[in-house]
Amino acid sequence: KKADNQLLVIFGASGDLTRRKLMPSLFELYVRGLLPKRFAILGASRSEYTDDTFRQQQREGIRRSAKGASYDDGQIDEFLRMIHYVSFEPTEYATYGNLKNRIGELLETLGSPDRVVYYLATPPVLYETIPAGLKEAGLNVAATKKGWRRIVVEKPFGTDLESARRLSELLRGVFEENGIYRIDHYLGKETVQNILVLRFSNGIFEPLWNRNYIDYVEISATETLGVENRGPYYESAGALRDMIQNHLLQLMAFVAMEPPAVFEPEPIRNEIVKVFRAIRRYTPAEIGRNVLRAQYTGCEIDGQYVPGYREEKNVAPDSTTETFVAMKLFIDNWRWGGVPFLFHTGKRLSKKQSEVVIHFKSTPTQLFSGQCSGRSCNKLTLRIQPDESISLKFGLKMPGAGLSVRQVSMDFRYDSLSSDYLPDAYERLLLDVMLGDSTLYARRDSLEASWQFIDPILRAWKQNPQRGLLTYPVLTEGPDPQQLLEDGNDRPDENCTLDESIFQ
Ligand code: NAP
Repeated sequence: KKADNQLLVIFGASGDLTRRKLMPSLFELYVRGLLPKRFAILGASRSEYTDDTFRQQQREGIRRSAKGASYDDGQIDEFLRMIHYVSFEPTEYATYGNLKNRIGELLETLGSPDRVVYYLATPPVLYETIPAGLKEAGLNVAATKKGWRRIVVEKPFGTDLESARRLSELLRGVFEENGIYRIDHYLGKETVQNILVLRFSNGIFEPLWNRNYIDYVEISATETLGVENRGPYYESAGALRDMIQNHLLQLMAFVAMEPPAVFEPEPIRNEIVKVFRAIRRYTPAEIGRNVLRAQYTGCEIDGQYVPGYREEKNVAPDSTTETFVAMKLFIDNWRWGGVPFLFHTGKRLSKKQSEVVIHFKSTPTQLFSGQCSGRSCNKLTLRIQPDESISLKFGLKMPGAGLSVRQVSMDFRYDSLSSDYLPDAYERLLLDVMLGDSTLYARRDSLEASWQFIDPILRAWKQNPQRGLLTYPVLTEGPDPQQLLEDGNDRPDENCTLDESIFQ
């Protein structure tokens, strides 16, 4: 399906997200013939560029991206002709007049479609300022019945329940609720959407997909990188806000939701919010037993010192911001009652990997030697990234005498479906907002329900910023999340060194 003719306005267009993600994704959509027939992009930020110098900057971004590298300059030139730029100071309402003129001119060149997507690719301090300015300038409403205005808001959407609510209220005062698109780029990943297809297009998994057959579910996203140059942002966010409140909880909702009656945005989003509302909220005492947090510490690796979190640029030397979180949570409904969902995420860990692992219950007795070593033998692993794949693990007889069992796996790799093309999450999400499909965008109620679970944890940590904060050496596995599955699990991981100073 092709989107109607329209204009895309990107605020913060001189920044990293636009150059590294948005423009390369739009270029790929262009190459695949998926952009509207008449389409233009207007970049807006404070930096002084002409259309030409801005195009030049974007050309380099596209060239450097994995996808742009395989195209010739001619194709990139054709795409760049759609891009325009206006210099604009978001806090000065006078400059919105200039913006309005540019938008008017561009819409005219497109045959006056009266359809505009605004994309807030700015730091969050501007998420309230820019919509307010758009309203003041009358840029928030369409002039005709067939027209529309939509706005995409990048993460983070608020820093707690109160700020998320305030931001939603403010946006609601400017745009229609169905015109507000809260982006979570994890949901744009092919492998994440495939969770729903795997579950709801196959009869074999769904009968097993519940508390009767599933022992526990593991959801993880680990990174080898540290905070790089994003110290100030990370200091105020931490791993809980940065990864769990949004990406991992959304992943969990796809794993845990009931089948919708029809595969349409609102029925799907209704099922997602039911999952969030059923998450058991923890009391302060339960938080200590079910949530672990830690920070990476520096050490020498292959003769080179890799700094710890507190030694990173723009990070306080006594920071208590967590760079690792492991937690166990429960969804108190009929399907999932009593099944632990085990999360972990962290920076500067030994590998970069995101996956969902469904651990099925064991057989009631073990008839064969070597049948199973851990808590569960049968695992379905959905690898989100990298090496996107699905694998099912089960026991088989070892060849030869006796009946000894070995665990084997049945594997599917996404590159066997499509060797050259796995669309970037932003390609899918940009196309969806142009088409008006909000399925893969977070709805206000689900976002607020997720904050309702996260807020008490943040409050508990704020009250006792140092208590229970573990440390882990860079590029190691970090604290073992499995300890949260054990009874009486509120003790620190033995493999981790406790930073004694934090208790003083
Ligand atoms: P960025 O590079 O820090 O900022 C984007 C642009 O916003 C800057 O080039 C700057 O342009 C303008 N800006 C910055 N501070 C401003 C201020 N105080 N007042 C007015 N304009 C200001 O941000 P980004 O990395 O592109 O990310 C944009 C948003 O996407 C952020 O909210 C981020 O959390 C989110 N995000 C980013 C990534 C990523 O990979 N980068 C991934 C996921 C989410 P001018 O100076 O020209 O005005």
